[in-house]
Amino acid sequence: MKTAERFEKFTPYSPIEPFEVLSQRLGLPIEQIVKLDANENPYGLSPRARIALANLAYANIYPDPESRALRTALAEFTSLPAERLMAGAGVDELIDLVLRVTLEPGDHVLSCPPTFGMYSFDTALNNGQLIEIPRLPDFSLDLPAILTAIQAYQPKILFITSPNNPDGSFAERAALETLLEQPVLVVVDEAYIEFSDNAGQLGEKRSLLPWVLQRENLVVLRTFSKWAGLAGLRVGYGAFPEYLMPVLWKAKQPYNINVAASAAAIASLHDLDYLSANVEKIRQERTRLFTALQNVSFLQPFPSQSNFILCKVNGHPALGLKEELARLGVLVRYYATPLLQNYIRVSVGRPQDTDALLAALSSLGSDVPAPLPDRRRNSAGVLPAPRSSHVTRRTAETNVEVSLALDGSGIHRISTGLPFLDHMLVQVSVHGLFDLDLSASGDLEVDPHHTVEDVALALGQAFAEALGSRAGIVRMASAEVPMDESLARVTLDFSGRPYAVIEADWHGPTVGGIPASLLPHFLESFAGQARCNLHARVFHSRDDHHQAEALFKALGRALDAATRLDPRRGGAVPSSKGSL
Ligand code: PMP
Repeated sequence: MKTAERFEKFTPYSPIEPFEVLSQRLGLPIEQIVKLDANENPYGLSPRARIALANLAYANIYPDPESRALRTALAEFTSLPAERLMAGAGVDELIDLVLRVTLEPGDHVLSCPPTFGMYSFDTALNNGQLIEIPRLPDFSLDLPAILTAIQAYQPKILFITSPNNPDGSFAERAALETLLEQPVLVVVDEAYIEFSDNAGQLGEKRSLLPWVLQRENLVVLRTFSKWAGLAGLRVGYGAFPEYLMPVLWKAKQPYNINVAASAAAIASLHDLDYLSANVEKIRQERTRLFTALQNVSFLQPFPSQSNFILCKVNGHPALGLKEELARLGVLVRYYATPLLQNYIRVSVGRPQDTDALLAALSSLGSDVPAPLPDRRRNSAGVLPAPRSSHVTRRTAETNVEVSLALDGSGIHRISTGLPFLDHMLVQVSVHGLFDLDLSASGDLEVDPHHTVEDVALALGQAFAEALGSRAGIVRMASAEVPMDESLARVTLDFSGRPYAVIEADWHGPTVGGIPASLLPHFLESFAGQARCNLHARVFHSRDDHHQAEALFKALGRALDAATRLDPRRGGAVPSSKGSL
C-alpha cells in the first residue's frame, strides 16, 4: 500500500490554532482573548442571519446542489447572471475547484508572493507546478517579471489578490488590464474588497465582478467570511467565464454549500445596511489603529485597504513579540519567510480590541523578549516554528543579506551582481527546495573574489542558524547529479566539524565570467560557516558550465536530504555524543 508520491514533500497549509485549543493553552477564557490573527469580523454575523440559523427547518434534507436560492440572491447583489455564478465552501474551495478543472499534471500556475497561502497549497494538491514572481518592496506587482514568466512558462492560471493578504495593497487597474490581455486565466481574489476605500457599498465600485462579462479569461472570487462575519460557516462565491461553468458543475462536490451556510448567506444579503455599518466601523478603526501602530517605535505599519495591517518589526524578533502578546491574551499573526522576515499582521478589531493591543504593546515597551530557541510546539497541536534564518554580513568589501527557509518550496530571489553565481544559487534553492532570498553587493570593480566568498560564508551561516541545535535532522547525505556528460557528487555531514575536500578539474581559467578556482573556494567557505563536512567530486566532465551546474545541483539535493527532519529521531540530536 502506498500513498501518492507527491505527498512525501507536500507542505501542509499552516492553519490558525483553534480558538478553544488556544484558550486552553493560554489559560485564558475565550472572552478574554483578543483575536487579531485571522482577519475575522469582530462584530459577528448579522441579526437576520442569526434568526435564519435559529429557524433552520430542514437540516435533515440534503441541500440544493445548485444552490439556486443563494445564487439568485447573489445575482441580484452582483448584477451578474446567476448562470455565471457558483458558490463554494469559502473561496478556499473555489480556488481548488478552478485548479482542478484546468490543470493537467505539471502545468504551471503563477502567483505573486507574499500572498495568500492557498494558491501554492492547492496547486501542489492538483499536481501543478507553482511559479512565484515576488512582489516589489512596496508589495506592488512586478508586471514586467510576470509578463516574462507568462511567456516563459505559459501558465494556465495567474492568481492576483486584491487587496492582497498580508499587506492590504490593491492591484493597479492598468496592470490588471495588461494581464488580462495575456493568454492566461486570471483569478482575482477579492476576499477583502468590501473594506477598500472609495468603493461605494461593500466594494461595488472597485470590484472587477462586472469585468467578468467583458473578458473571457477572468475569474473573480468573493467571500462571506470577512464582511458578513460567516467565516465559520464557509461560504464564498465566484464569477467565472462562460466556458468554465459546465466543467465546474461537473467537478463540484454536489452538496458543497450546506443548508445553514446557505440560509445565513441569503439572510446576510438581506441585511446589507447592518453589515455595511460594521464594515464602516472596521474601516474607521483601521485608520485609528494605523496611526497608533505608527507611534510604536519598533513597528512600521503598511497602509491597508483591507481589514488588517501588516507591520515590519524593527530591532526585535517578531516571533518574540507575537509570543509575548499572546501571553497577554492578544493574538496576532507573525511571518518569517524569505520575503517577509520579521513581520506581524494585525487584524482590525473593535475599538476595545485596539485598546487591548495598544495596552499590551505599551506594557512591553521596548523590552520585547527574544523567542525561545528552537521551540518544538507540535505536542500542543501547534505547528513547529519554521526552520529559517536571516543573516546580514557586512564588510568593507561586501554587503550580503540572506533569508533562508529550510522547509520551503524552492522560491527564490537572488541577486549577487554575478549572473553565473545567481544561476548556481538558483540550483541550490530549486533542487534543495529551500526558499532563498539572497542579495549581495560587493567590490566587483576589484574582482569577484570577495563577493563569491562572502556569499558562501553568509549562506553557510544561514544554514547553520536555520538548523539551530541540529536536533532531529538526518545529518548525513549524498547526492549524485548528472548534467549531460558531467557527473558530480556532493556528500555532506552536518557534524559540526568544518572540513571540505573538492576534487574537480577545470578546463578553462574562468567559468561564467568568474575564475574557476572560486567555485571550490565557494564550497570550502560554505562548509566552514555551515559547520559541515563537505566532499565534492566531479567524475566526468568536458564542459565547465555543466560541471559547475551539476555540482551546485548536487549540493542542493544533498543539503535537502541532510537537513530534513527524520521523524524517527523524535527530535533527538543525531549523535552518539549527544551534541553537534
Ligand atoms: N482569499 C484570501 C486572500 C484570504 O486571505 C482568505 C482567508 N484568509 C481567503 C481567500 C479564504 O476565504 P474563505 O474563508 O472564503 O475560504
